Amino acid sequence: MSISPREEAITFRPSNLFYLASLHRPVVDRAEGIHVWTRDGRRFIDGSSGPVAVNLGYGNPAVLEAMRRQMEKTTFAYRLHFENEPAEQLATTLAERLPAGLDRIFFVSGGSEAVESCIKLARQWAVATGQGGRWKVIARMPSYHGGTYGSLAVTGDGFLTDSFAGQIRMMPTVPAPTAYRDRDNLSMEERGLRYADMLEERIVAEGPESVLAFIMEPIGGAATGALVAPDSYYPRIREICDRHGILLIHDEVMSGIGRTGKLLGGDHWHCRPDIVSLSKGIGSGYVPLGALAAPRRIVEPVLKMGGFQHGHTYAGNPLACAAGLAIIGEMDRLGLIDNAAAMGEVLMDGLRGLAARFPFIADVRGKGLLTAIEYADRETFAPLPADWKIGQRVLDAAYERGLIVYSRRVKGGVQGDYTMVAPPLIVTRADIAEIVSILGDAIEAVARDLDL
Ligand code: PLP
Repeated sequence: MSISPREEAITFRPSNLFYLASLHRPVVDRAEGIHVWTRDGRRFIDGSSGPVAVNLGYGNPAVLEAMRRQMEKTTFAYRLHFENEPAEQLATTLAERLPAGLDRIFFVSGGSEAVESCIKLARQWAVATGQGGRWKVIARMPSYHGGTYGSLAVTGDGFLTDSFAGQIRMMPTVPAPTAYRDRDNLSMEERGLRYADMLEERIVAEGPESVLAFIMEPIGGAATGALVAPDSYYPRIREICDRHGILLIHDEVMSGIGRTGKLLGGDHWHCRPDIVSLSKGIGSGYVPLGALAAPRRIVEPVLKMGGFQHGHTYAGNPLACAAGLAIIGEMDRLGLIDNAAAMGEVLMDGLRGLAARFPFIADVRGKGLLTAIEYADRETFAPLPADWKIGQRVLDAAYERGLIVYSRRVKGGVQGDYTMVAPPLIVTRADIAEIVSILGDAIEAVARDLDL
């Protein structure tokens, strides 16, 4: 395996920072609501909430005030030396709202840490309950669960993981339920069951006694572009995990905290995951914050065995948790979960309008304010040629017009380009009209360039 050199010449930024590519972007000045202004005076609509993170929108005064009040008390308290009230209160607030039983909370500082914490808790639970032979965590292909080694091990994307072959023990995968692109005679519900049953086949092939957990996003984000499985998929997955004594981990880092019009993405199907990871929306861009939620029956054996062998310096940080509490409070006060559901419908209508205009948009999907359009051949679902880079072009054309969207070429087994639209949950009908209009102009410009 070699790492292929980038084709373009790399030009370094005029500062000491480096990122994943030689991007030169304007310098941010300030942000408020759904808008970001740069120092050169440009205004952007953040149609993707950063990386689908700024659920509450920028600069909420109540959150800033709560942070200021906490900063005046203390910005830090180490969890092995002191309890802290914001962390206690945020844990209680989350436990009250999460599906029944998910009432033990552990805080971290981001999504990758949250996913790794879920996996480590699951593994320690297996050891503590005399099931030490269980260690494999089956994941989906494609999928994205984070950038650290443990979360990469369950990430189904060869582009991101191949360079680290040998350093990471990659976990087994099953196909993500991309039923929308299947061209067979099955109904959607039958397809949903077929995808779920692939998990059972994999479990049997691996040896059920070696399988610890299955990890999935209830509504797929970065790797699959707002992928929603057929309704039949969700209960069948639960059934299969139960049959084999396997823990079901829902990665709700992107789909959680109101993003899809329910607190959790899995709530649309009344899912009962065993462990849930959270991040992004819970800190909404104000603070680095993540969490895992698990029931007592999983946490207790681990604590009895000597405690969760895990933790980070900033776990349960009082400033981060004070912000998290204020964020949930503001989401309640402003009715943002309901707004996400209602505005999601308006956004989906707008995106369907774009699909009616552009024949190379083959699918429009999502829930609430986690939505995507996919570019492909409408009849066959064959992806558009990779060198057209249509997703990237749309992203760039939208950016030039002052709209931020999230585009990606799906890798790892399924090929295709998509653009995700996921504005902050405070978005209004008028904002959505503006977002859809600019996105339409951007797609039209790209279509003209490509002679489509
Ligand atoms: N899990 C999911 C579903 C994600 O979408 C992401 C980030 O995009 C992560 C985990 C990793 O989160 P972070 O970038 O905060 O480490």
